[in-house]
Amino acid sequence: MKHIANFVVTLFILISIISCKTETKNEQKNIQSTDQIHKKKETDVHWSHQKGEDGPENWENLSDKFTDCGGSAQSPINISTNAISKVDTLTAIEFNYGKSDVTIINNKHTVQFNITGDNNVKLNGTDYKLLQFHYHTQSEHTIDGNHYPIEVHFVHKNSDTNFAVLGVLFEEGDSNALFDKYLENFPTSKGEFKSEDMIDIISLFPKNKSYYNYKGSLTTPPCSEVVNWYVLKTPLTASKQQIEIFEKILNNNYRPIQSLNGREVQVYNQ
Ligand SMILES: [Zn+2]
Repeated sequence: MKHIANFVVTLFILISIISCKTETKNEQKNIQSTDQIHKKKETDVHWSHQKGEDGPENWENLSDKFTDCGGSAQSPINISTNAISKVDTLTAIEFNYGKSDVTIINNKHTVQFNITGDNNVKLNGTDYKLLQFHYHTQSEHTIDGNHYPIEVHFVHKNSDTNFAVLGVLFEEGDSNALFDKYLENFPTSKGEFKSEDMIDIISLFPKNKSYYNYKGSLTTPPCSEVVNWYVLKTPLTASKQQIEIFEKILNNNYRPIQSLNGREVQVYNQ
């Protein structure tokens, strides 16, 4: 009996030690994961274009840095062509683009062409430098409530608080020359492709450069309200097949329409 009693006591002590160790391990794990959350908040918070916990309706709650996503001057917007202001002070876009090396990147949110070299625009007296352009399917901006199948955004910067994005819409029609050349090289999942040829950036715009202009935001987190938007009135074309390939790669990476909240949309006609 004494042996059995000794054994039970020893077993009890052993179990206590093991469970204590497990607890300490769990506590350490908890501390680690809280640390990771804090780090994540500062750098790489996961967000998505799809409906759900990390979707557009919740972007403003995902990080302290994303609070602008709930702001009152957000993009994209619907452009009502019967509620725009013709303003005589607006001027034509001055393009100072050259030929550029490009690296095509799929960052899981979009397919983006990173640009080198000096490509600038002058927009109503202010100079901006082109940084990159990237694509959305369907279009982010709507015209009189209608989406277009694709929208490209040429992102330009003047300073950290002053960006200009030139948006060009695509409709179905003739095949697009840039896509003819590069679509088969688009990274279909995360990755990049360095082009051997240079791209003549101005050839990526429609001939007519009339535009709608309003003040808004980046359309992805952190949704900073620092963007002068220039949405060109004239769409480009892409073939049905090109649009289908794009849709497959980009999978509806557009943000829903945001409230205008009294902002004015102006128009410049070339
Ligand atoms: Zn964009």
